[in-house]
Amino acid sequence: TNVPNDLNAFWMPFTANRQFKKQPRMFVGAKDMHYTTSDGREVLDGTAGLWCCNAGHCRPKITEAIQQQAGELDYAPAFQMGHPKAFQLANRLVDVAPDGMDHVFFTNSGSESVETALKIALAYHKVKGEGSRTRLVGRERGYHGVNFGGISVGGIVANRKMFGTLLTGVDHLPHTHLPDQNAFTRGEPEHGGDLADELERIVALHDASTVAAVIVEPVAGSTGVLIPPKGYLKRLRDICTKHGILLIFDEVITGFGRLGSPFAAQHFDVMPDMITTAKGLTNGVIPMGAVFVSNEIHDAFMNGPEHLIEFFHGYTYSGNPIASAAGLATLETYAEEGLLTRAAEMDSYWADALHSLKDAKHVIDIRNIGLIGAIELEGIAGEPTKRAFSCFLDAYERGLLIRTTGDTIALSPPLIIEKSHIDQLVDTLRTVLNEAA
Ligand code: PMP
Repeated sequence: TNVPNDLNAFWMPFTANRQFKKQPRMFVGAKDMHYTTSDGREVLDGTAGLWCCNAGHCRPKITEAIQQQAGELDYAPAFQMGHPKAFQLANRLVDVAPDGMDHVFFTNSGSESVETALKIALAYHKVKGEGSRTRLVGRERGYHGVNFGGISVGGIVANRKMFGTLLTGVDHLPHTHLPDQNAFTRGEPEHGGDLADELERIVALHDASTVAAVIVEPVAGSTGVLIPPKGYLKRLRDICTKHGILLIFDEVITGFGRLGSPFAAQHFDVMPDMITTAKGLTNGVIPMGAVFVSNEIHDAFMNGPEHLIEFFHGYTYSGNPIASAAGLATLETYAEEGLLTRAAEMDSYWADALHSLKDAKHVIDIRNIGLIGAIELEGIAGEPTKRAFSCFLDAYERGLLIRTTGDTIALSPPLIIEKSHIDQLVDTLRTVLNEAA
């Protein structure tokens, strides 16, 4: 495949290819655990694309379902009619969702799922006659996509500083990266409650009757893999319940098997009121997202007299046929291959392999949960991100795709990963780290 020389028209400020102008790096093919590069090399996918290709790449069942659907019924407007596959997919999704979540709202991305959930939260309180509940609570270092609501509740200051006040009435909980946590979270004593109690402080500051919802990633992914201390999410749940505040889990990354259960809600045994998803829903192949809502929320809207007029929300592509077909084939693939629980089976091999890197150069912390890993490096003074980014480039040259965020290497391989791939991944990283300046 020819790689174009002119890279200016496709404008995405942070695509790495802006730094590779003289020698663009591109993927031209993919199969299962591997990408093929434009210079004809195989690269092991250590990140499932962007945390999304949970079943690996170009899986025939998914590809064929898309092709067939595209030739049979390409588009149908859900606003007027709909088509069978969107309803079938919704049924299949609620089968794997936590108990008490029997309804989904289709979107087209993680960012849209977040916006949808925030709007549902505010609208729900209105429908219940508690319209004063308009405040939202996010968390420092939380990532909830790039739209206005998502960056408002998100905890990355750099992402919102250009945009003034955005959504008003937003507070942020402290992030959950504890210096003494050092990853092997199994067996640690419960100590997350104190951190979650920060929510009580925020509620007390304003008055509980003004707070609509709290949104958190159960495991913060793209800001460096921050695993909550034991008991943290449960305490958040308890505080929300006590004050009538909705709890939203943003499971765009953790959904669909990443932690060894369909959703993080099941892994942590904490039931939120809504779950936002995307990515793994269609194996990352076709843009699609879904917001799972509790029956309580669904019924509040649908049993009320004016629900449809009160809550106008939906997208041209909500539950579109091709994405629905891809979603159905993805869920079938996950079920046939046991992928929604595979991360639990691989957990100890993955953990041991990652932690064997603790003596590699520059490593200051290693964290793991399910099939997620993080290797935090000591940064170069005054040049944050430089060391990790050079590791990213070197790993790529050595046939491994990783992701970096700040000076942390983040890993989230396809759930079909075998032990031999894990060995290769860790061996490559050991070489990369030990040779890094
Ligand atoms: N929420 C979380 C937790 C995410 O990780 C992401 C994407 N990395 C998003 C939302 C946004 O998803 P999208 O890029 O599909 O809009």
